[in-house]
Amino acid sequence: MNRSLADTRRWIREGTELLVHATTRLDEAAYDAPSLLPGWSRKHVVAHVAANADALANLVHWAATGTPTPMYASPEERATGIREGARQPGTRLTEWLRLSSDALEKAMDVLDENRWASRVLTAQGRTVAATEIPWLRSREVWVHAVDLGSGIDFTALPADFLAALCDDIVTKRGGAPGPEVVLRPTDMPVRWYLPGAPDEDGAAVTVMGPLSEIAAYLAGRPHGATTLGSAPVPDLSAWL
Ligand code: ZN
Repeated sequence: MNRSLADTRRWIREGTELLVHATTRLDEAAYDAPSLLPGWSRKHVVAHVAANADALANLVHWAATGTPTPMYASPEERATGIREGARQPGTRLTEWLRLSSDALEKAMDVLDENRWASRVLTAQGRTVAATEIPWLRSREVWVHAVDLGSGIDFTALPADFLAALCDDIVTKRGGAPGPEVVLRPTDMPVRWYLPGAPDEDGAAVTVMGPLSEIAAYLAGRPHGATTLGSAPVPDLSAWL
């Protein structure tokens, strides 16, 4: 599906609201508890999402001024930000998340059409139009809201966002080694295809389930997708 700038900006607002709300319900012990991401507490997740808003604001600055401003000065800086952020009290982390999200929002508000079309470089080394920034942000807030492990799952995410997420991941995974898979949501007239190695019968594996479960599977998160037949759902390599 084609996602518009209006879509991605709406997804950010909705996802941020949900994530901030979820963090305000965590007491200190719950904030320190493990998230769904291996080795990360909920504090690590929130510190990462807050730092990501600051990093993406650097890209917005780049788009606004033409002065190259990378997301992070270095991979080490990114890691340190998460590690040190995770040592702060939960209330401060929630505040950082709120403030950094607001600042990013305000910075994006003043970009005009020309500035949105300008090119910036992501932390993964991809040159993209600035319009990709709100997509990257919406992906962060929604997927990490699930990673928080505090009761939000993929069924809470908007269907149009989930479809855009599946498009994005399938495109990214397209060239990666892995199984040949056809993805068939049971609640949406769409299919996705991952090229790869067929099963022992020489066929692609068909993975089915609600769109929310297909998206969770593609994103490498806990999911409830199944296969057509009795074969287990094949493992996919890491997505990001
Ligand atoms: Zn992330």
